[in-house]
Amino acid sequence: MATILKGAPVVAAMNEKTAALCARLKALGIFPTLAVVRVGEREDDLSYERGVMKRCEKVGVGVQRFVLSADAPEPELLEVIARINADATLHGCLLFRPLPRQMDDRTVRSALNPHKDVDGITDDSLAGVFTNGDIGYPPCTAQACMEILDYYGVELTGKRATVVGRSLVVGKPVAMMLDRKNATVTMCHSRTRNLARICKEADVLVVAMSKAGGIDGSCLREGQIVVDVGIHVNEEGKLCGDVNYDQAEPVVAAITPVPGGVGTVTTSVLVRHVAEAAARWHKIPLKEEETQ
Ligand code: NAP
Repeated sequence: MATILKGAPVVAAMNEKTAALCARLKALGIFPTLAVVRVGEREDDLSYERGVMKRCEKVGVGVQRFVLSADAPEPELLEVIARINADATLHGCLLFRPLPRQMDDRTVRSALNPHKDVDGITDDSLAGVFTNGDIGYPPCTAQACMEILDYYGVELTGKRATVVGRSLVVGKPVAMMLDRKNATVTMCHSRTRNLARICKEADVLVVAMSKAGGIDGSCLREGQIVVDVGIHVNEEGKLCGDVNYDQAEPVVAAITPVPGGVGTVTTSVLVRHVAEAAARWHKIPLKEEETQ
């Protein structure tokens, strides 16, 4: 029976610190505010947006929404981003992607001021993940994986960590962040040979492969810590992850649940980044008790 690495206590601990930082900033006349930019009405964007708004309200982060129609031309979106960049009362920007076909992803994400990039979409933020730089922020989902491991005291130094998936949103940044914690990291992808053997060798396995149940019992062994990033709806209409939970749970030492794992922590990371971005913008140093 595995220990279930639930997101809820991680969220509670993070929110408490974020709320404390927001309260201190407000006393100084600074109101941390997130710009949410959505093109179209995709149901998964809307659902994430609702979660973000709830979380922002809870910790005291303001939200300003910018909604464009699904057929809006690219210059209209660039104009919105330019307005956000120029507005000193907006400290962070969440841009829903993928963008519609008429828009070029790189052009749009490069238009955002990296100092307001609270979700790690600009090249500056991603470079910061590699160099430990202080412009922008790591992608929230990748950081959520690390927050969970950190909260539950998973020691990474010298451990073999395997990441399944190499996207810029999750796989690659998580691999870099695990490396920074002195794990020995292997990254797997769709062309990896002997995936099951490589996964089995890992002490810590982070799975972000966009394939429901893609990691089954043949990839797992006793003693492993498993972080499941995937979110899917199965044939029964229930949420499930990239890991076959029923096969994993009796075998591994610990696993994040889906739902209630990485996804829950992601929005807390986002609001945390907004509060930090507001502090950085106004050159307010963080206090020890406000940091992770
Ligand atoms: P993605 O861009 O589709 O990338 C999937 C990665 O998995 C790719 O690198 C791909 O390899 C690799 N892959 C695919 N099939 C594989 C296989 N059979 N064996 C090994 N590797 C394989 O996905 P993503 O955006 O990183 O998201 C990953 C998962 O996380 C998805 O299920 C998504 O829904 C979920 N997600 C969750 C959150 C959250 O907050 N919890 C946020 C974002 C995403 P190639 O590079 O070779 O194609």
